[in-house]
Amino acid sequence: MIGIVLVSHSAKVAEGVAELAREMGGADVRLEPVGGLDMPDRPMGTDAVLVMRAIDRVWSDDGVLVLMDLGSAVLSAEMALDMLPTDRRERILLCEAPFVEGAVAAAVAARLGKSLAEVAEEARGGLGPKAAHLGMPAPSPADSVSAPDAGEAAGPHASVRLLVENPLGLHARPAARFVQTAGRFDADVRVTNRTTGAGPANARSLNAVATLGVRQGHQIEVVAWGPEAQAAIDAIGALAADRFGDDEGQSSAAARGDAGAAEATAFVAVDGTLSGLPASPGVAVGPALHVRPPDIEIPSAPAGEPKEEWAALEAAIEATRVEISTTRATVAARADEQSAAIFDAHLLFLEDEELIAPARSVILDGGRGAGQAWKEAVDRVAGMWRALDDPYLRERAADVEAVGAQVLANLLGDASARPSVTGGGVLIAADLTPADTAGLDPAIVVGIATALGGPTSHSAILARSLGIPAVVGLGRGVLEIAEGAVVIVDGERGTVRPDPDPAHVAEAERRAATFQASEAAARAEAARPATTRDGTSIEVLANVGLPADVEAALDAGAEGVGLLRTEFLFIGRDAMPSEQEQEAAYRSIAEPLGGRPLIVRTLDVGGDKPLPYLPVPAEANPFLGLRGLRLGLARPDVLRTQLRAILRVAADHPVKVMFPMVTSLAELRVAKALVEEARHEVEGAGGRVPSNLEVGIMVEVPAAALAAEVFAADVDFFSIGTNDLTQYTLAAERGNERVAGFADALHPAVLRLIWMTARGAASRGRMVGVCGEIAGDPLAVPILVGLGVRELSAAPPAVPRVKRAVRETDLGSARALADRAIRLDSAEAVRAAAGEAAARVAGGHVEPGVTPSG
Ligand code: PEP
Ligand code: MG
Repeated sequence: MIGIVLVSHSAKVAEGVAELAREMGGADVRLEPVGGLDMPDRPMGTDAVLVMRAIDRVWSDDGVLVLMDLGSAVLSAEMALDMLPTDRRERILLCEAPFVEGAVAAAVAARLGKSLAEVAEEARGGLGPKAAHLGMPAPSPADSVSAPDAGEAAGPHASVRLLVENPLGLHARPAARFVQTAGRFDADVRVTNRTTGAGPANARSLNAVATLGVRQGHQIEVVAWGPEAQAAIDAIGALAADRFGDDEGQSSAAARGDAGAAEATAFVAVDGTLSGLPASPGVAVGPALHVRPPDIEIPSAPAGEPKEEWAALEAAIEATRVEISTTRATVAARADEQSAAIFDAHLLFLEDEELIAPARSVILDGGRGAGQAWKEAVDRVAGMWRALDDPYLRERAADVEAVGAQVLANLLGDASARPSVTGGGVLIAADLTPADTAGLDPAIVVGIATALGGPTSHSAILARSLGIPAVVGLGRGVLEIAEGAVVIVDGERGTVRPDPDPAHVAEAERRAATFQASEAAARAEAARPATTRDGTSIEVLANVGLPADVEAALDAGAEGVGLLRTEFLFIGRDAMPSEQEQEAAYRSIAEPLGGRPLIVRTLDVGGDKPLPYLPVPAEANPFLGLRGLRLGLARPDVLRTQLRAILRVAADHPVKVMFPMVTSLAELRVAKALVEEARHEVEGAGGRVPSNLEVGIMVEVPAAALAAEVFAADVDFFSIGTNDLTQYTLAAERGNERVAGFADALHPAVLRLIWMTARGAASRGRMVGVCGEIAGDPLAVPILVGLGVRELSAAPPAVPRVKRAVRETDLGSARALADRAIRLDSAEAVRAAAGEAAARVAGGHVEPGVTPSG
C-alpha cells in the first residue's frame, strides 16, 4: 500500500483532513498529517524537515503521494524531496489534487491497493462528486470512494449479485462469516443492499455489513477490487450458496426466534413454552430480567498521554479477545461449533474499524481518555444497530454493548465487575459462570432460566444451594423473551413459559405454594436426626461454598459440612488468597458449626472453574486435564499454603481434609506427604496443629471407585462425588445440555461404582459418604443407603428433604431396592423402581431386605 503525506500551513487542518481520510479509507491507510511550525508564537507555516520526516514515517516501496494545501506547503514539499536520496525521490509524487477531497479519494484508493499513479488519478478526480452535485460537468474517477457498478472501476475487479435466502438475512452470524470470508483475500470488497439501496459498505466491517439491514429475499451486490478480487467474489458466492453457513435446522430455528444453540434439548411448544433441563426445584413466577453488563464508572479526564491511553485500550481489547476466545472454546467443548460461532461475531467486534478507528482518532488526535473514547464508539455503533427495522438485528446492539462493557472492565481494571440485574424477577442469561451465580441474591432473583448449561454444572449447583428454582439448557429462544414479560419457571418440569395467561399463573402459584408447604413441613422437623425406621443413623450434612452458607445449613438441620468447596474463596479475584486469609475464612465456617464436623476439600479448579491467576494451558478436554488434585500437585506451593491454613484451623475444630479428583494411589501419597510438610511448616513457624488430621478422598473417577479397596488402607474416609463420577462413567460432560440425557447419577453403572466404593471402604471399616448432587434427591436416598452409604451431604435447602427421606426408609427395603437397581438396564428404570418403592413406603408396605450382590 502506498503512503500519503498531507502538508498544510495548519497542523489542525492537516490532522482534521487526515481524520476524515482515515474515516473513509480505513485506519490502516498509511497516512501522515504534517502542518505548522514548531514555534509557539508562529504556529502557521510549513517546514521541509517535518515534511521529510513524515515521508519517512509512511515510507513504502510502492511510493508516497504528497498532497499540499497552498503556497509554502508546495515549496516545503519540494525542498523535502531534495533532501531525500535519489532512489526514494523517484517514488514520491507531489500531487496537485484538491487537498480535502483529494486526500479522501487517495485514502480510499490506497486502501484498495492501487498503484501510486492510480491513487494520484483518483485524488485529482476528487472534485468530481462535488462538481456533479452542483451541476458542473465533471465525471470523476473518484467515484470509487463508493462501490462503482461492475465494469466502471479501474484495476482488477469482480462482482456478483446474490439473493439472500436466510430467514433472518445477514444477521450477526452470517454477517460475521461474510466479513471473515471477505477478509481472507487481498481485495477490497464492498457490498450494497440492492433492494433497499443501502450501502455500499466495507465488507471487512461487521458493523457496516450487518447494518445494511439485509433481510431474507433481499438482493445484494458485492464488488471486489484488487489482485484477488475474483477469488474473493467466488468465495462469497460459495458462502451464499451455503446460506452463509446457516444450516437448515438453524435457519428454521432462527425463523422462530431461536438462534440455534442447545437445539438438541431445547423444544418450543405451540403455546411458546420452552423446555430445558430442570436444575433447581421449585416454581417461580415473575418478570423477565435480562443480565445486564456491569455498570462501570468512566473517568472524565484521561489518565495519561494519548499514546498511553491508546496502548491501554489496545491492551484491554486484547485481554477481552483472550477472554472471549476462552469462552468460545468452552462453549464449543460443552455445546457445539454452531453455538460457539456466536462468539466469532463478538471477536469481530473487537477488530471492527467502525469501533476502533473513531476511538483511536479521538484518543490520539482529540486527547480524549481511552474509556470515554471507547464508550462513545460503542454507543454510536450500538445506536446504528438499534436504528434498524429488523427486530432481530436491533437486538444485536446488546451484543456490541456487552463486548464493549467487557473491554471497559478490562480497561478500567474492574475485573470483579459482574453482570447485574435490577429489580426482582426471573433471571435470563445465555449461561452463568459459577461466580455470576454466587453473586445472585435470592431476594431479588426468584428464578433462573438459561440458554446453555447442564443440571450438574457448577452454576446449577449454586442455584440449588441458593434455593432458586432454575431451568437450564433452554436454547437461545429464552434470550428472545422481552424484558419485563411475565414468565413461569418450573424447576420440577424443566420448562419456562413466557406470557402465561391468568389460568397458568394461578396454577403455577398453586404449585409453588404446594412445593413451599412441603418444604416447610420438612424444615419443621429438620433438627431431628436422620434415622431409618429400623434405627440406622445416617449423617446428613451440607455442601457449602461460602461462610454465609453455614447459617442456612444449620437452619436446615445439617449435622455439619460434608463438603466445603473452597474454590469459591479463590474465584472472582485477581490473586491467590494468602494463608492468613484462608485460615480466617475456614475459621469463620468452623466456628458457627459449634463442634460439628467440617470436611474441607482442597482447591478444585480447572474444568469449568478456571482461575485467572492459576492459568492452565489450553486443553482439548479440560475435564480430563489438569484438574482437582492434579493441579494441586502441579502447584504444590498453592496446595501447601492451603493445607497449612486448614491445619491451623483443625488444631481447634473437628476439621478433616479431602482431595478432589484422585485417580491413583501414588498421587494420594504425594498429597499426604504435602500434608506432613505443611504440618512441619506450621509447627516450625510456632503454630498449632492437630495431633491427627483425617484425610479422605473424593471418589469422582471410576478408577478410584474400582480401586477403593486399595485406597482404603491409605485414607480415613471416602466421599463420592457423583457429579463427576457420572460424567466420567457415562462419558457425558456435566455442563453440556446436549448430553445431559446420558448423565443421570442413578444409572446402574454409576450405582455399581458406588456400591464397589462402599464395599472397598467397608473392607477397612472406612466411612463412605456421597456429596454429589444426587445425595439431595429424596428418590435416590434409599438406594444410596441400601448401597452402603452412611453419610449424605447436600445443598442446604435439600437437607430437610433428605432427612425426611431417610426417616421414611428402612435398611431392609433400601437394600432390596439397591440390589434391584444395580441390575436394571437404565437410569429411567431405576427412577421408576425408586418411584414405585417410595409409593409402597408411603402406603406402609415394607419389603424384606436383601444385600446387593451383583
Ligand atoms: C462432585 O463431583 O460430585 C462434587 C461434589 O464435586 P464438584 O461438584 O464440586 O465437582
Ligand atoms: Mg467434583
